[in-house]
Amino acid sequence: MSSTKVRVRFAPSPTGGLHLGGVRTVLYNYLFARHHGGDFVLRIEDTDQSRFVPGAEDYIMDCLKWCGLIPDESPLRGGPFAPYRQSERKESYRQYAEQLVIQGYAYYAFDTTEELEHMREKFKSDPNPSPQYDAKLRNHMRNSISLPAEEVKKLLDAGTPHVIRIRMPENEEIHFDDMVRGHVSFATNSVDDKVLLKADGMPTYHLAVVVDDYLMKITHAFRGEEWLPSAPVHLLLWKYLGWENSMPQWAHLPLILKPDGHGKLSKRDGDRLGFPVFAMNWTDPKTGELTEGFREKGFLPEAFINMLAVLGWNDGSEQELFSLDELVEKFSIGRVHKGGAKFDYEKAKWFNHEWIKKSDTERLLPDVKKVFRDKGIDISNDTLEKIIPLLKERCTLLPEFFEQGSFFVIRPETYDLPAVQPKWSEQKKTFFIQWIESLKDLQEWNFASLETSFKEKAANSEIKPGELLLPLRIMLVGGKFGPAAFDIAVVLGRDETIGRIKAALEVF
Ligand code: GLU
Repeated sequence: MSSTKVRVRFAPSPTGGLHLGGVRTVLYNYLFARHHGGDFVLRIEDTDQSRFVPGAEDYIMDCLKWCGLIPDESPLRGGPFAPYRQSERKESYRQYAEQLVIQGYAYYAFDTTEELEHMREKFKSDPNPSPQYDAKLRNHMRNSISLPAEEVKKLLDAGTPHVIRIRMPENEEIHFDDMVRGHVSFATNSVDDKVLLKADGMPTYHLAVVVDDYLMKITHAFRGEEWLPSAPVHLLLWKYLGWENSMPQWAHLPLILKPDGHGKLSKRDGDRLGFPVFAMNWTDPKTGELTEGFREKGFLPEAFINMLAVLGWNDGSEQELFSLDELVEKFSIGRVHKGGAKFDYEKAKWFNHEWIKKSDTERLLPDVKKVFRDKGIDISNDTLEKIIPLLKERCTLLPEFFEQGSFFVIRPETYDLPAVQPKWSEQKKTFFIQWIESLKDLQEWNFASLETSFKEKAANSEIKPGELLLPLRIMLVGGKFGPAAFDIAVVLGRDETIGRIKAALEVF
């Protein structure tokens, strides 16, 4: 195994928005592949046509692009094992299902939906409230185990709709070593005879995932813990198909839990508690319902990825902030926790704030420009270069650049008068009238010269500069927030600063 090139895959079914747990699965796959110099494959598992949702595949690819987790092989990029969409590989699966039937590991089942329902009703009992199609019941059903061979042949020749089911062995233990969970074992009696090939000739997920992991030479399969109950079926298929020696190493990743730790975090929890659960905005094409994503909420992908990486993994130190490159260097699947990780939105925002502070102006500029553009304001790069460094300490989510900084481009129309008026005086008014006169001749328009002239004039007027700074701020900004007043004046420029002070003096 050690000389084999590492190949991992993310294998989503395109059924809707991409949950943050899904992105974390992508991330761990990606990190593992990069860490080991391997390949990261995106395979679209779209064999369940009834769950097909238009747009979901493009959406998944856009999410990966936004996160910077670009697969080496995918439906978009192609690759040596193309096609990477299971619906386009439909023809390749039947032969394996048929092979299993011939070997006695699987069988044809002709039961109609009504017959299946009837079985569930008939065999329902207190100890067994939801009877399954399994070793105990399969003899009561219409399949190639219960029916005589001639009848099976007749049914097949007549083109009777049928599925192929795995024949789960009775009273056996199936076990394997999971890279996260350690030794795991299952009793075969608890698993039903899963359908492998459907009546329409499409494989189910169970068959397709095994066949494709084999054909695509996947060495490690990482997926969410919710797939653990399917693992015994997959393990048996690897064995029955004679591929046991090529089977990938499994890692079932812990769930991301609701903030209170009770159960898996769902989209509904996000709606209820007011935070995103999907990576990007998702509009359900059937209902038109829009679900807000982390991107649109104002998260940087660097922060989103960092937050997800440490939701279930650490490098053994206290470090919390990691760039993608650092994660690639430090990630190890052995340090992924076994237990679920509680999602904490406040902590997620903390990561974003840290990343906004850490990022340089050039990195933030396109995002901040977009925030203003979304509000209908086109702002020059020149101005952005000046305001981003002044604002970033104060912004946790990207839209706050507008909330905290719109006054740079929009003159205040209202003022926080209750904050100024109680201490306002004729003397202060005179100070400002005189100060703006002197500003007209100020030689250099920078922080130091503005501050010096302000302090000098204040001393002449016998007012403490500290008492004048709040009114100045409110004149320039409208409210009691924002960076240092002289920093603001530098960006506004001479005419606009003077204009704002004059306009405010009319109102105060
Ligand atoms: N198609 C499965 C899903 O939708 C993939 C599970 C796996 O990785 O085996 O998540």
